[in-house]
Amino acid sequence: MALLVYKFGGTSVGSTERIRAVADKVKKAHDLGDQIVVVLSAMSGETNRLIALAKDMQEIPTEREMDVLISTGEQVTVALLTMALHALGCEAISYTGAQVKILTDSSFTKARIREIEDAKLRADLNDGKVVVVAGFQGIDELGNITTLGRGGSDTTAVAIAAALKADECHIYTDVDGVYTTDPRVEPKARRLDHITFEEMLEMASLGSKVLQIRSVEFAGKYNVALRVLSSFKEGCGTLITYEDTQMESALISGIAFNRDEAKLTITGVPDLPGVAFKILGPIADANIEVDMIVQNIADDATTDFTFTVHRNDYQRALGLLEQTCADLGARKVTGDDTIVKVSIVGVGMRSHAGIASTMFKTLAEEGINIRMIGTSEIKISVVVDEKYLELAVRALHAAFELDKIKA
Ligand code: ADP
Ligand code: ASP
Ligand code: MG
Repeated sequence: MALLVYKFGGTSVGSTERIRAVADKVKKAHDLGDQIVVVLSAMSGETNRLIALAKDMQEIPTEREMDVLISTGEQVTVALLTMALHALGCEAISYTGAQVKILTDSSFTKARIREIEDAKLRADLNDGKVVVVAGFQGIDELGNITTLGRGGSDTTAVAIAAALKADECHIYTDVDGVYTTDPRVEPKARRLDHITFEEMLEMASLGSKVLQIRSVEFAGKYNVALRVLSSFKEGCGTLITYEDTQMESALISGIAFNRDEAKLTITGVPDLPGVAFKILGPIADANIEVDMIVQNIADDATTDFTFTVHRNDYQRALGLLEQTCADLGARKVTGDDTIVKVSIVGVGMRSHAGIASTMFKTLAEEGINIRMIGTSEIKISVVVDEKYLELAVRALHAAFELDKIKA
């Protein structure tokens, strides 16, 4: 008998028919004798709908009230699935995050899980029930409802799997695994049989939203066997693994991209100690996350400084930077919120030279101008104009022969 955590994403529970199909699948596994915890997202589009309602009430609603609102989508699906299971004669019970007691910190809209009370879940499982838990939400020490950030149901599932020491955590979604890149952008993308935690973490943080970053962090830290599979068709999906030294790893495992980027530049800054701090201090104080940073020295004792932020923070960052420009006596501020970041990821990069030049050559041949470059041991990222996103992804996919990877 295995203890399994199954998570179904928004599309998989997007209608009553689909919820019934999930109930069938869960009942089948339960009938085989496995203990099953199911974690659900809200119906597809629901969280966005709730966010739009909030914006209609108030330009910037408080984050506490946002969480009270956007956590409701998951409460609907867990109740409906539990009813569907009951209708099939399967014993089941639903819980919200607060009822389980998924204890989080108090960072509304991006809370982190601190602890999960497992007693109730274990008692229900031992009673032979399927336990259905609302993803994406928790409760802080003061009893406030919190949410875990977009895509947070993945993290709920992995955290519950870790707390219960489950045998496997299955993330059922609308693709049948993790692909070499988003198959919506490159139809020639190939499903990977496995991918290392390190690579998956890098892919997720560089924009591949198939798994929430924190779910991958959790799985790596607590040794959760994590698999991404399709809700709609049979298959073994993609297993996230520790690095297998036996395997000859491909140079590049995948291409990630992020459309939510914007870049800002301040030029003619006096080149003195403390300048980076003076530029980025006000940005950090405003809680704006900075991603890539490039500083360049000009030959007239001034420096140019460019960095990227989330597109949602662009206007605010621009305002702050203009103030800094006046304070520092710098030349001018420019910005662009029509850029994207495209990254190649692979642990194989560690032991191979020349990957960067292949990447740059490929982009050059397509006439794509690179605006910024960032590297780490297992990734190379470039910032390009958003109109080139699809072209860049497909050209790189072909150049690194990802369409030939065997699943
Ligand atoms: P869910 O609602 O089930 O959580 P998501 O929309 O969050 O589903 O994640 C699945 C989507 O992730 C896919 O439909 C796909 O477009 C996208 N995606 C992005 N990068 C990848 C990738 N490398 N492999 C597979 N899917 C990816
Ligand atoms: N419903 C939430 C979202 O849309 C959480 C999730 O689906 O994982 O972000
Ligand atoms: Mg998701």
